[in-house]
Amino acid sequence: MTAQIIDGNALSKQLRTEVATRAQALKAQGVTPGLAVVLVGDNPASQVYVRNKVKACEDSGLHSVLEKYEATMTEADLLARVEALNNDPSIHGILVQLPLPAHIDAQKVIEAISPAKDVDGFHIASAGALMTGMPGFWPCTPYGCMKMLESIGYDLRGKHAVVIGRSNIVGKPMALMLLQKDATVTVAHSRTQNLKALTLQADVIVAAVGKRNVLTADMVKPGAVVLDVGMNRNDEGKLCGDVDFDGVKEVAGYITPVPGGVGPMTITMLLVNTLEAAERASK
Ligand code: NAP
Repeated sequence: MTAQIIDGNALSKQLRTEVATRAQALKAQGVTPGLAVVLVGDNPASQVYVRNKVKACEDSGLHSVLEKYEATMTEADLLARVEALNNDPSIHGILVQLPLPAHIDAQKVIEAISPAKDVDGFHIASAGALMTGMPGFWPCTPYGCMKMLESIGYDLRGKHAVVIGRSNIVGKPMALMLLQKDATVTVAHSRTQNLKALTLQADVIVAAVGKRNVLTADMVKPGAVVLDVGMNRNDEGKLCGDVDFDGVKEVAGYITPVPGGVGPMTITMLLVNTLEAAERASK
């Protein structure tokens, strides 16, 4: 059996076209959806991420502002910038790129973002909204995973989902989203014993660990859906996920590749959240 590939690039293209259409409709009402991306310091990976986010906005007809600051920026100055963006009517979404320099309390900065503009979905109010099923912004990476499941028409009701990883930005919100769709959810982490016994029971596996080959073919039930969130480098320095793709694709029913899987969906869901924020603000 060879798994069907869930193509994150193709799905992103489709969703971004929908974003562009909805952005056009808002513009016709005089509202251009706007995202502010704030980068502090010169972390090379962060520079690439913010550039990609700003370009994705432009390509979909969203207005974007990139604010770059020296690594020496004080926490007070950053909080003042966030407050100014909270009060700027042309900005509907605010994203402060993580990690921040060590002298800045990242959680404090995230909590300073207005929940109405928290398009990354990291604010405690967004987390609470997800937990209680109230309207709010969902973190982009797990939200993208849910869209991938939706794209294959997968009905999660009563299915067993195993999420490997329990971070606040991926694993935990992923588990809550799956639960909201009536899956029975198991969350595994570094202290989990006998991971294989759990994954072998799973209809859906989401790997969000950050280690190569966390999931191998012998750990997967035939026909399972495997979503690979991990971003790692292999021995040749090439991007790879947490899943042993070549082995697992022979057992799984569906699988996401790395690159070209969950990665592009993350930025796409940022655009979706920004558009949604602008639509809500204009009502
Ligand atoms: P993280 O904060 O480091 O969390 C990793 C999780 O994996 C932790 O909960 C950890 O358990 C668990 N873990 C570690 N070793 C394990 C093992 N051997 N077995 C089972 N669980 C184990 O990472 P993250 O931010 O969630 O990101 C996870 C991966 O996704 C990374 O590769 C990251 O680069 C990638 N990522 C990709 C995207 C994208 O757009 N594609 C977005 C975000 C993240 P403990 O809690 O017990 O330590």
